[in-house]
This record gives sequence, C-alpha cells and structure tokens, in this order.
Amino acid sequence: MTDSAKTVCPYCGVGCGLEALPPAQPGKAVHRDSQGNPVWQIRGDRTHPSSMGKVCVKGATVTESLEKDRLKYPMMRKSLDDEFRRVSWDQALETIVNRIQIVHKNQGADALCMYGSGQFQTEDYYIAQKLFKGHLGTNNFDANSRLCMSSAVSGYIQSFGSDGPPCCYEDLELTDCAFLVGTNTAECHPIVFNRLRQHHKKNRQVKMIVVDPRRTQTAEAADLHLAINPGTDIDLFNGIAHLLMLWGYTNMFFIDECTKGFSDYAEVICHYPPELVSRKCGIRIDHLEQAARYWGEAQNVLSLWSMGINQSSEGTAKVRTLINLHLMTGDIGKPGAGPFSLTGQPNAMGGREAGGLSHILPGYRVVNNPQHRAEIEQFWDLPPGSIQPQRGRTAWEMIEGLETSEVGLLWIAATNPAVSMPDIKRTQAALRRSPFTVYQDAYYPTETAAYAHILLPAAQWSEKAGTMTNSERIVTLAPKFRDPPGEARADWEIFAEVGRRLGFEKGFKFKNSAQVYEEFARITTGRPCDCSGLSHERLRTYGPLQWPYPDHWPYLEAGEETEQNRTNKRLYTDFRFNTPDGRARFAAYHSRGLAEPPDEAYPLVLTTGRLYGHWHTQTRTGRIEKITKMHPLPFIEIHPQDAQKLGIQENNLVEVRSRRGMARFPAKITKAIAPKTVFVPMHWGALWASDAEANALTHPEACPSSLQPELKACAVQLKLVTIS
Ligand code: SF4
Repeated sequence: MTDSAKTVCPYCGVGCGLEALPPAQPGKAVHRDSQGNPVWQIRGDRTHPSSMGKVCVKGATVTESLEKDRLKYPMMRKSLDDEFRRVSWDQALETIVNRIQIVHKNQGADALCMYGSGQFQTEDYYIAQKLFKGHLGTNNFDANSRLCMSSAVSGYIQSFGSDGPPCCYEDLELTDCAFLVGTNTAECHPIVFNRLRQHHKKNRQVKMIVVDPRRTQTAEAADLHLAINPGTDIDLFNGIAHLLMLWGYTNMFFIDECTKGFSDYAEVICHYPPELVSRKCGIRIDHLEQAARYWGEAQNVLSLWSMGINQSSEGTAKVRTLINLHLMTGDIGKPGAGPFSLTGQPNAMGGREAGGLSHILPGYRVVNNPQHRAEIEQFWDLPPGSIQPQRGRTAWEMIEGLETSEVGLLWIAATNPAVSMPDIKRTQAALRRSPFTVYQDAYYPTETAAYAHILLPAAQWSEKAGTMTNSERIVTLAPKFRDPPGEARADWEIFAEVGRRLGFEKGFKFKNSAQVYEEFARITTGRPCDCSGLSHERLRTYGPLQWPYPDHWPYLEAGEETEQNRTNKRLYTDFRFNTPDGRARFAAYHSRGLAEPPDEAYPLVLTTGRLYGHWHTQTRTGRIEKITKMHPLPFIEIHPQDAQKLGIQENNLVEVRSRRGMARFPAKITKAIAPKTVFVPMHWGALWASDAEANALTHPEACPSSLQPELKACAVQLKLVTIS
C-alpha cells in the first residue's frame, strides 16, 4: 500500500499543509467520492507552519475532482468547427514546434504568446520563462496572476524597491489592529482568517477594521465595518492619514530615518478633511475617526488586502497609499505589523519568484533593467541581447493581439480565460479568431477548450512533484503520490520537450523537477527572494521552509533553527529597504475614481467576488458534489431599496446589462450590499450556467502601472425579467 503523503493545498495562496491518505486504510472502509469511486482522503497536516492542521472545504475535498473529466491524451483538430481527434504526443509536439517556427519566421518572436497560471508549480513557471523569454526571445509570457495580484507587485516594487510581502502569518496573532480592505478573508482565505479571528476573540483590546462595500462574513466579525462607495479606497486612506497627522500619531523618527517623499505626501493629505472623506466614501465621520484612532493607538498594525484593492484601474496607487499609512506610523518590519497582500492562487508567489509575468525575470528581476537581463542571459548561457528589454504582452494585450492578428500562436496552460477575463464576449470572439491555440490543461471540457486547435493533457497536483510558495513566502514541496491519467505529462516536461525539439537541447536537459528547482534556486542567489538554500531534498527532509533562504543558511544542518530564532520571518526588520538609498518611498496620490462610474443610463455599480466553496471558474470545484450543493446557482445581491424601485423580489430573474454585454441572475435581496451597488460571484461560465457570466459585464480598463484590469467595478442597469 502507498504511504500517506504530506503536500500543500493546490487552491488558494494561504498554502495549507495537507496530508493525503490512500483510499484503503487498514481497518477502515475504502474512502469513496459521491459516485462511489475510491479516492484519496485529505486531512490537515498538523506539522505545516502555515495552517497547523486546519483545512477548508476546498482543500478537504480536492481529491474528489482528480478522476473526473480528465483530459488523458493529446487531441487535435484543423478548425474550431471540427471534432477533436486523438493524436500521439509526437504528432502534437511536432505540430506545435512547426507552428512556432513558422510564426517566428513570418511574424517574429513577438507573435508568440503563452498565458500561464498561478496553478503552475515553480518548476513549470521557470521552464516556461526559459523557453519564451530566453530561447524564443519574446517576453510574451503572462499569467492569470495579472488579473489577481500584479498591483501588489508594482506597489511593493515602487514603495520598497522590490516585490515581496514583508509579513508572515504569525503576525495575525501578534497584531493589535488588523485593517482588512478589499478582502473577504473569511470566505476566500478562510484559514488565514481563522487565525486572526481566534486572536481577535481572545484579546478584547485587539481591533479589527474591515473596509468593503459588502457586509461579508469578514465584515460581520469586525469591530468596525466601513462600507465605502466602490472606488473610494484612496480617499479613505488619505483621510485616515490626515487624521493620524492631525492627532500626532506620526512616527517622525521612522519617517526621517527610513523613508523619502513625506513632504509631498503631507501636502496631499492636507486636502482630505473628515467631512470631505465622509461624503466621498459614503461613511460616517465618527466611523472614519474611529478607524484612524484604532490605527493610531495600536502598537502594531497589520493590513491585509486582496482583489478589492488589486483589481482596480488605480490598483498600484491604492496599494501604495495603503503602504503610506504603515510608513507614517512605522508599522512595518516588526512583529504583528506590515502591509500584507494575500495572494489568490496557490503559487502566484512562486510565479513572481520565477519571473512569471511579462515584465519580470526570475529572482525578482525586471526585463527593463540591463543588468538583470545580462545576469539571466549569462546564467542561461545565451548571447547578450537575447532577452528583450521591453515588457511582453499582458493577458489582455494578448486578446487585443488576436483581434489585430499580431498574435500568431497562443499557448494557454492551466487557466480558463474564456471565463475569467474581463469583457468576456469580446475575449471569446478574439479567441475564436486565433490562428492557432494550444490549450494545456488537466480537464476536458472547459470553456477555453472550445477555442483550441490542440489539447495537451497536463498532469496536475498529486501527479507530479514540484514546489509552491504561499503568501507568507513559505515554500512547500508537493510530491507526486498518484500516477497521472492516460498520457498526461507535467507542464514543465512539455515545455522542456518543445524547447529540445526546437533545437535548444542544452538549456532543457532536465531529468526531473528536482533538477529544475536546483537551477531555479541558484538563479535567485543574492536576490531579495533568495531560495538558493532550498532544494527538493531539503524540503523533503525538513518540511516547508520560508525564503529568503540563502545557501549559507547555517541553522538547519546544525540543528539550531527554531521558530523563535529564525530571522527570515519578516522582511525589513532592520528598516532598510531595497531602494538604492535603503529608504522606502511615500506616494502622493489623489484618486481618479472608477474607470466607469455609474451614470443615468447605467446607474448601479456591479462588484464581483468569490464564494467560500468555489474556486475561480469551477474547473475543479464544479466537479465536486459537496461544493456544487453548497453553491448550486449564481445570484445577484441587490439592496432592498434598489429592488423595490425596480419591482424585483427575492429569486426573481434579473437581467443585468453593461455597455459590453448582458447576463441574468436570480435576485438575492439583502442589506449586506450597499444601496446603488450590486454583487455577483464570478465563478460561473458557460459550462455551468447559461447567460450567467459575470465577466460579460466587466471591462478591461487597467491600472497604468500594474496593467491589472478593474474586474471589481463597472456600471450596470437592472431589469426584471418578465416571463410571458
Ligand atoms: Fe486550500 Fe486555501 Fe482552503 Fe487552505 S484556505 S485549504 S489553501 S483553499
């Protein structure tokens, strides 16, 4: 009998440790899914430092999705109107290689694009970068993390000189004021929230502030809920800063010694008196003052955020104005304090380390830095000038490139853009125009498979060995403990095989993923995300480890490392940042507001979000009975005042229109959503419900720095559907 396996959850960025047990256990009935198939059982791994044995419904049921609707063999078709037919790996890979060569010759390297995923393991990410940015000579690799946390990346880089969340989960239990903004942590990062909730419950002096236009489960637990108008986050942060300065809560020693740009910032926040902020944000003055008082009086303030801040046309400015508050009060680099972005995907962090966005390179390097390019070219043994100095296409720009026929080949892996991209009808039309789309995934059917010319079966979590980094920089080895179905292969193996067939033999001679990780770890040497002391072997021996972890780290082998003496839990503990002068930067911003504010024709703001049980576009969770029973249908939340004006009652079918499209949802009438705002979960694509795609309504306007689209807000109108 196979032994149990310790691994990491493949869903969200919390990165909980899981223990997988074979279906048959001595003395126990065989564990089966809802259809009676034997499946591995999951329990929380008590030894994992991030989750300590806790697990949510997604992690607990993940194995129930592993046998269903799997893509087992390569498939091909000439046009989207044909049926797929099974082909050999040889045929599929030769077709792809030929096509890459033709497009490269006729249109140039920049006509080649790959759209990857935070579901990748770090090894998959790394080999994809080496192939595209290194050997093919295009930076057109972007990942669905562009839609998820690229504003956090650009905010950290601009404020601190490099990316990387400076905090750790232990801070959840050490803070005396938690400021949660644009994050429904209770539902979307439940195990992180449980740690904070326990601490908050046990310690009456600990304050929790939640900023969200919805009264979510997270907001229910807060001491103070600020239901701001969508898009007014910067006004709120500047308003809090105004009061912190007025009331003398600024840490002038920290500001003078460790930061730059305070005087310009102070000039800006002068213009945010409470009366103005209250009016703009739609909150009471005493609530604004209470928030500033909680922040100012706390010894250690921890802010947490996710999509509500990042998915915005001014996402970077929002991140930076939130970071300003930490710089103003010196709440960073110490236990219980700091600006902490929560990543959505299980390995979005590993993607950042491996260079998995179109403007970055492995080891927290950027493509527009000549020294960074030279370092990577030398490491990859490529001629100088091989890596392009301009960023590649972002996810949305790939869609635009299909529209203008500038993209000749699109390779999509481990993600479902036919549901998750903004303005989905336009996205789908562009995908339909694609001259050649390779779709590499574990499942079939998916909405995106409908737009592919070649399907490549991918081995997924549990079927391949690789690493994932969670939001607190902890790297966990996810081992292989089951065989992949049919002929499915690991993503990195497929990329490496294509690299070899293209003639780049030397760069892609890896026997296994441990060798890939070994090369990746070396490339991070001396960088802010130094993983050079990590290896599959070390992670297997010692369990999950946190970076920075340089190769001369002395503690483990000497048996001296303990949770108490580890010095890498937090970044910037010496208050020196990664800018040239070591000082963090204040940012002085006024808000521009929503890219598409409501008006007479489209009077309501639609905001989108996630539910506790479902994961993204349901590729896995839509195949798990327990979860589909928990969340059977999409819905739209409408405030009673708006519902009454429109004659809408509970469960009535409502037609929602934006300037881009239409969708229909049953109404849920609730005071949990603010008046003039409506909420729709984003999980449903055409495969699971007809006419209920949230992204039929959203727009692609993006933050100019992070290029992350504003998926969180667009203007809509509502109409009751009358059935005659
Ligand atoms: Fe998995 Fe996230 Fe749930 Fe943890 S909180 S079990 S990582 S989905």
